[in-house]
Amino acid sequence: MAERDGFIWLDGQLVDWREAKIHVLTHTLHYGMGVFEGVRAYETAQGTAIFRLKEHTQRLLNSAKIFQMKVPFDLETLMAAQCAVIRENKLASGYLRPIIWIGSEKMGIAAKNNTNHVAVAAWPWGAYLGEDGMTKGIRVKTSSFTHHQPNITMCKAKAVGNYPVSILAHQEVAACGYDEAMLLDPHGFVCQGAGENVFLVKNGELHTPELGGGGLDGITRQTIIQFAKDLGIPVIERRITRDEFYIADEAFFTGTAAEVTPIREYDDRPIGTGVRGEMTAKLQQLFFDTVNGKNETYKHWLTYV
Ligand code: PMP
Repeated sequence: MAERDGFIWLDGQLVDWREAKIHVLTHTLHYGMGVFEGVRAYETAQGTAIFRLKEHTQRLLNSAKIFQMKVPFDLETLMAAQCAVIRENKLASGYLRPIIWIGSEKMGIAAKNNTNHVAVAAWPWGAYLGEDGMTKGIRVKTSSFTHHQPNITMCKAKAVGNYPVSILAHQEVAACGYDEAMLLDPHGFVCQGAGENVFLVKNGELHTPELGGGGLDGITRQTIIQFAKDLGIPVIERRITRDEFYIADEAFFTGTAAEVTPIREYDDRPIGTGVRGEMTAKLQQLFFDTVNGKNETYKHWLTYV
């Protein structure tokens, strides 16, 4: 990733991609306190647009607030920076990675006065769980690693330090040939995927784990819930056991990277008939129409760069 042409926004300026470097004594690198976002820009007939830019940028600032990290830039500046990065890298579509981290002035967890830094990078990124998975669905396995409970890490924050358990879970199931891991919360209820929220469909209703279990308040999750409300599909947020997923009619993951990815198999049980379900396909189509600027109802979610 480091060897590319292009520009990265670093502390207020666009710098050459290869020059966007930090010191090895960067506090966040040692202690894991940093916050970030994952955002996507899509090609539309009216030009490239970033999907739900304000919501993502607000979540980034909220994540920083949770960790008492002062951010040297305001919401508008950070939104403009993300547009500039897409524009200056001439990306028709792509994935954006804003990140805020603590600098290198002092080591030790008590280092309170270090400067905080902000960067925004962007690159082309296709279907996170594979093009095939988008139509056929993916195979998911419960990991032996338990998700954080909300008083261990701050689960409302999209924080750097929350991700090692996602990596462990993914590594574990990928080694056995599965596409993605499911994590259970400390009480044994389904929490979320390694980098995705999860939904099931049963008898025409949508069910998704309540966020009190520690799942991220995903912006794609919010999007799907809004779609469902607008379509008159009941949405129930509650605690869900893994075996409820085994006997669901359909299931799917949501996330900025994963978009809307059908799950065709969970813990070696086919979900429904083992293919992408009808409601999943409908919501997936609505999602892609929306991000690609083909749906008037949700045009306010697009920011043209
Ligand atoms: N859970 C985790 C652990 C994630 O990393 C992500 C991706 N940001 C999500 C859920 C989905 O969130 P969003 O829809 O906002 O991308």
